[in-house]
Amino acid sequence: MAASFTAPATGAAGRPPGVRVGLGDLSRRDFLRFCSWVTAVLALPPRYVVRVAEALESRARPTVIWLEFQDCAGDTESFLRASHPTVADFIFDIVDLAYHEVLMAPAGARAELSLRQAIERARGEYLVVVEGSIPTAAGGVHCTVGGRTAMATLREVSEDAAAVIAVGTCAAYGGIPAAAPNPTGAVGVRDLVTEVTVMNMPGCPVNAVNLSAALVHLLTFGELPSMDDLGRPLFAYGATIHDQCPRRGHFDAGRFVKEWGDEGHRQGWCLYQMGCKGPTAGHNCPVVGWNDNTSWPVAAGHPCIACTEPGFWDSASPFYTWMGQDLLPQRAEEDEGSEGLGVALGIGGAALAAGAGAAALAAQRRRRRAAAAAGSEARRPGPPEEATTA
Ligand code: SF4
Repeated sequence: MAASFTAPATGAAGRPPGVRVGLGDLSRRDFLRFCSWVTAVLALPPRYVVRVAEALESRARPTVIWLEFQDCAGDTESFLRASHPTVADFIFDIVDLAYHEVLMAPAGARAELSLRQAIERARGEYLVVVEGSIPTAAGGVHCTVGGRTAMATLREVSEDAAAVIAVGTCAAYGGIPAAAPNPTGAVGVRDLVTEVTVMNMPGCPVNAVNLSAALVHLLTFGELPSMDDLGRPLFAYGATIHDQCPRRGHFDAGRFVKEWGDEGHRQGWCLYQMGCKGPTAGHNCPVVGWNDNTSWPVAAGHPCIACTEPGFWDSASPFYTWMGQDLLPQRAEEDEGSEGLGVALGIGGAALAAGAGAAALAAQRRRRRAAAAAGSEARRPGPPEEATTA
């Protein structure tokens, strides 16, 4: 299981004036702590701290165009509340955020002009960050900005991009707008952008720590991090919540919460029987946490709802219904013909359970992904026709 860690404090409030080194008003010590921390998030060996520091101090900032389509703005909210780095550090020191409808000063025609100028200025080199799904039904009229459909804007802006990063589950797979019956024909970025590398960073919302880490990786190594078959960076999505969960010991020992507020709930036991989908969800929530790594859903006593997986929301519903016996430690014992030992597993039993659980988990993930893929295929409308709304 991965260890949790505390991120460095940022910001000048209450601190002696720092030396400006790479990231806003950080002192040299805090700047290096930030580099160590982001190196750990990226699961890189400690020797890479110096390289990360050099990259953040010397490289040119990549131009970022942030497009927002059919969504709740939760990813922007997540980004705005990040403190490692702060949004100001991010905008002024890590990237050149050339277009973001929520954060930029220009509005209306001037905003559209900013977008065109950013494309011209950094053609072939800029990054596009997409938040929200893209509606394709009725020619895409369900989401228009500046008189143009989301489909048309995405196509035009991604055409000359170096890469596209889909942040949040809506941009990655369609998310909540794509839930049945998906009246707007919502799809994820990868359904429409095929000529340019698209990295998915799902989550409801995206964890801004991971977004920053991915960009630091790009600055340090000149390329996006390695990805899984769903286009998600392995450093953040390569292990399941379950395998990194601090309650995992209770799962292996068969100690489960049976009812909200019962003794097991108060003791912090496993939430699997309360509907936890952590065994099917790939994400580093238990490691990077939320709100300055003060907590995350399972730590707060709520089951994981697998918001990073394809097909979310439908595939994770109903949230409070458990996924069944397949993964339980007792199951391994039964498979081995040793019924009657109950949940009091020793170390050998737990190891046996882990092996059987891994196989069952892999099968369950395959089933859920296949069901999600079949569902989204069935919901997807025919080839999109672009609407003219200007
Ligand atoms: Fe943690 Fe959920 Fe796995 Fe239990 S089932 S160990 S609460 S991730």
